[in-house]
Amino acid sequence: MNIGCHLSIANGFYKAGLQILELGGNTFQFFTRNPRGGKAKAIDEKDIKKLIELMNEYSFGKLFAHGSYTMNLCSNKEEIRTYARDLLIDDIKRVSVIPKALYVFHPGSHVKQGADVGITYIIDALNEAIDHDNTVEICLEGMSGKGTEIGRTFEELSRIIEGVTHNERLGVCIDTCHLYSAGYDIVNDLDGVLNEFDRIIGLGRLKAVHLNDSKMPFASNKDRHEKIGEGTLGLEALINIVNHPKLKHLSFNLETPNELEGYKKEILLLKQNYIG
Ligand code: FE
Ligand code: FE
Ligand code: ZN
Repeated sequence: MNIGCHLSIANGFYKAGLQILELGGNTFQFFTRNPRGGKAKAIDEKDIKKLIELMNEYSFGKLFAHGSYTMNLCSNKEEIRTYARDLLIDDIKRVSVIPKALYVFHPGSHVKQGADVGITYIIDALNEAIDHDNTVEICLEGMSGKGTEIGRTFEELSRIIEGVTHNERLGVCIDTCHLYSAGYDIVNDLDGVLNEFDRIIGLGRLKAVHLNDSKMPFASNKDRHEKIGEGTLGLEALINIVNHPKLKHLSFNLETPNELEGYKKEILLLKQNYIG
């Protein structure tokens, strides 16, 4: 099973790798830079080399490199869009040297310009960013739909992917909390939701899973993560997700409100319930 959680890389990537092993996991998510925006730390090649060795030795799953929350590719202000596009280009370049790392980002918020305008801006930015040749897999994260967020529906995610010229490396990261808040009933009809994903986006595009419970009711469009088994999704639904034949091979990373000890317990709990 490929399971892990969000970790800080303040002490480097190798340390994060050691830390996730200590927590019982074999993948982790990290922010490419301060999640509230700002400059990224230079990447230390020696650190990455040590991480590669560790990942090979302990057969790690794919890592998730998460973009800044403030990166809004479809802002109504041109300077914010340009800044976001530059972050995207730089992030993809940075992530390309990190082993087995997928790049995950929030599509953006259209700030009342309407989804059509927003989607066009996101497509434009991706077309520019993907033109820079490297092989990083890029994942749009499915969102809960709070405010004017784009990416609440499979249709919106699909429109972005289909609009990008070289979309071979584009995929989707589903977040269980977001899906449920967005109105996809993964508690009572997981198969139905996955069939819909397949019909609209194609399951081949599904690359990553954020495993979170939710503090909010079904279809609330609110984004509040909860500890595994303590929210509106519940333990059984989350266990069904990690064991689903169409999902079980993916990397699952927790973004639950936890300290390291809490993550350790959740990783163990999920591993104990993983049939594989
Ligand atoms: Fe996210
Ligand atoms: Fe998430
Ligand atoms: Zn969230």
